[in-house]
Amino acid sequence: MQTEQEFDGGIRPAVFGKLICIGRNYAQHAAEMQATVPDEPMIFLKPSSAVIGDGGEVVLPAKSKEVHHEVELVAMIGRTGKNIPVGEALDYVASYAVGLDMTARDLQAAAKKKGEPWTVAKGFDTFAPLGPLVPAAEVEDPHHLTIRLLINGEVRQQGTTADMIFSVAELISYFSQIFTLYPGDLLFTGTPDGVGPVAEGDRLEAQIEGFPPLRVTVRR
Ligand code: MG
Repeated sequence: MQTEQEFDGGIRPAVFGKLICIGRNYAQHAAEMQATVPDEPMIFLKPSSAVIGDGGEVVLPAKSKEVHHEVELVAMIGRTGKNIPVGEALDYVASYAVGLDMTARDLQAAAKKKGEPWTVAKGFDTFAPLGPLVPAAEVEDPHHLTIRLLINGEVRQQGTTADMIFSVAELISYFSQIFTLYPGDLLFTGTPDGVGPVAEGDRLEAQIEGFPPLRVTVRR
């Protein structure tokens, strides 16, 4: 577990709240998964016990033979809100960060086939690496950021948050109709295309322009 200091930026929760994630929020990623683009945001949750910070280690679970990286813009909520209008939604963000939605793709595929939830595939310990938080006031427009994932120095994912199907503001508004949002909740806003497997010993570096990078290593 991280210390509060490592998550400085905006507010400093001792413990993160719920991790609300969206699937298929970039059309090209939906295409590479041979999935359709959703009409409504497709939501899943991760447990807060999955969060690790910059410099941490992603631990590959014995249950999976194929763990994928998904680099994502993460927004951390700073105010309690319910039924938040789209036009006010960004006022509820305390900070942003680059994060990784690590996914046991083989377990996810099996769950999809059986019509079961993705909780196991998405929820292992260390499956939510989170970079240093950047105060929202320092982020002029979260919808025009270059986002990238490198493995051992080689670019594997590169996109722009301009290609999101549902904007950060739309997601916050939508999520808040279902869940009351609290300070310390983390919103994972989906990944661009280029997802792929990671291997033991890999060094992952997740980047969003203007943000401090997130660096983690992979071990079994
Ligand atoms: Mg994802």
